[in-house]
Amino acid sequence: MSKFVGVNQVNLSIEEIKKLNIRRVEICITQSRPYKESLKDALETLEFCEENRIAYSVHLPLYIPKWYQQDYLAAFFLSKNEALRKQSFHLLEMNLKKLEEKNVDYFVLHFPGVNHTDTDHENFKLFLKSSLEEINTLAEKYNAKILLEYFGSNILFNDYYQWIEIIESFSKIGLLLDTGHLYFASKLVPFDFLQAFSVLAKAADAFHFWTTKGSHYYQNNEYYKTYHHIIPNFNQDAKDGWAFDPRFIFNQMLNQKKPIILEASNIYKGHEYLINSIQELLEYAEIFQKDY
Ligand SMILES: [Zn+2]
Repeated sequence: MSKFVGVNQVNLSIEEIKKLNIRRVEICITQSRPYKESLKDALETLEFCEENRIAYSVHLPLYIPKWYQQDYLAAFFLSKNEALRKQSFHLLEMNLKKLEEKNVDYFVLHFPGVNHTDTDHENFKLFLKSSLEEINTLAEKYNAKILLEYFGSNILFNDYYQWIEIIESFSKIGLLLDTGHLYFASKLVPFDFLQAFSVLAKAADAFHFWTTKGSHYYQNNEYYKTYHHIIPNFNQDAKDGWAFDPRFIFNQMLNQKKPIILEASNIYKGHEYLINSIQELLEYAEIFQKDY
């Protein structure tokens, strides 16, 4: 199967990964199950990828020590609260160190914070630069590539042109474009989704692919609240209120020849729908990219 299109492992067993002949995986823990159980699964899949030479990325963090009491996906690298900020860097370093010997293709980080509430900040640009420098230094130290996932939720850092310009100046940092978060950002900031997608797709190093329905964002969106990340399926028509035409967006991503991770839950229409949709996308990519 395609070496570019992969799957987030949270909702798939190793048996299913084998059966679907998946050649790329993103290792991740989930808040929907007890931490220890989720970490055990993630590490087993990571070892399976190592043994079978399957390319894999790691969605940080995997290791969460007891001293870290915050929402681990929220991230506080840009928080004005110095104690929280230090903890975020400390958590990042601890994870990079523990995974130093592994063949991780790249790491994914929620750098800007998901629920950022600081609305004014003196010298924010300098502050941003120094935080990025610190991440870049850690990436160099542990020989890692770290991709920052784009969100629109940080009021001080949601201009995607600014993201591209700043991130491009760091050697070990890249950009990850997530179709669902970009869609919500386009409602939240707001901006034109397709215009932003075409600009960011060229600058991105990798993608997350999932969808949703409706014109509201995050907790204002009934589909997001009920189903979280929905697996894209070619039957989801933008005319019916879906975020985008999945075939059009998938084609644009495939043309970039960069990793695309299907990052979806199995709540919407159940597990079989997730598996069938993954299979359909993998087979489509195989045909699309056969000339590469
Ligand atoms: Zn994502």
